[in-house]
Amino acid sequence: MHLINADLHSHSVVSDGTLEPEALAERARRNGVRLWSLTDHDELAGQHRAARAAREQGIDYLCGCEISVSFAGVTVHIVGLGIDPDDPALARGLAATRGGRGRRAREMADGLAKVGIRGAYEGALRHVGNPELISRTHFARFLVDAGVCAGTDEVFRRFLVEGKPGYVPHRWAALGDAVRWIVGAGGVAVIAHPGRYRFSPNEEYALFSEFVAHGGRGVEVVTGSHAPTEYATYAELALEFGLLASRGSDFHSPGESRTDLGALPGLPGRLTPVWAALQHRVLRAEPVASPAA
Ligand code: AMP
Ligand code: MN
Ligand code: MN
Ligand code: MN
Repeated sequence: MHLINADLHSHSVVSDGTLEPEALAERARRNGVRLWSLTDHDELAGQHRAARAAREQGIDYLCGCEISVSFAGVTVHIVGLGIDPDDPALARGLAATRGGRGRRAREMADGLAKVGIRGAYEGALRHVGNPELISRTHFARFLVDAGVCAGTDEVFRRFLVEGKPGYVPHRWAALGDAVRWIVGAGGVAVIAHPGRYRFSPNEEYALFSEFVAHGGRGVEVVTGSHAPTEYATYAELALEFGLLASRGSDFHSPGESRTDLGALPGLPGRLTPVWAALQHRVLRAEPVASPAA
């Protein structure tokens, strides 16, 4: 169960990735992925396409999403795995969560104009696949194209993080709501890339405790966003909080992402993989052979 190549975190043009769901499914299969999830930010519009493409490629699939949450003044991401992509309450929650992105994007462009970067809103829009999902990533791609920065990492550092000219604070979903939408849609809620938040130990403990109290059951241990030392840190926290462990590249784009689909170490053996608890939600490429009578 630990040994299967599961990649349960990735993005398509439906949010801030650059590949169509079909191209991701093909890339996943080529890279040896056996169980895949497309987890676009705050949006389910790619799920049926991804599920169909996975079946065509002969790989198993879990429906997914990645919900933007505000916790203690910081943006935290919660991945939902094994969700029903047609669940109305989840769809309503995600629609409300992405609702403020348009206005936020205009304010980001105003901030960039003040430091001499004009036309950023229109420029970012040219990179957007889904007009409801304009994100910082699209601004980053515009600024790289415009020759302002060499790469998206530099754009974030210089322009798009707190204290920088293109940063606009935003109120996302509440932690408890995000977990309830996922659980209500039949899925398991997972804390995405916890090593990225730079919380103090007390804040991190509060996040994990509240997440569990709301019904959250999993945490990403092996992700493209973690350094190898963080695999060990979050393996320990998973055990301490009795959480299932997830594994995902967070792949966005061939040109940008450091970690390709499926190109990750395995989960530490003493953890329970999140897919062990989601077998009934897996959309199988092939029917499971029934045991011989
Ligand atoms: P948003 O939801 O609009 O705030 O955009 C968040 C997205 O920006 C994340 O999902 C990542 O894809 C991307 N991102 C955040 N920080 C960085 C970074 N330092 N370098 C590159 N991409 C980043
Ligand atoms: Mn993203
Ligand atoms: Mn994320
Ligand atoms: Mn992600």
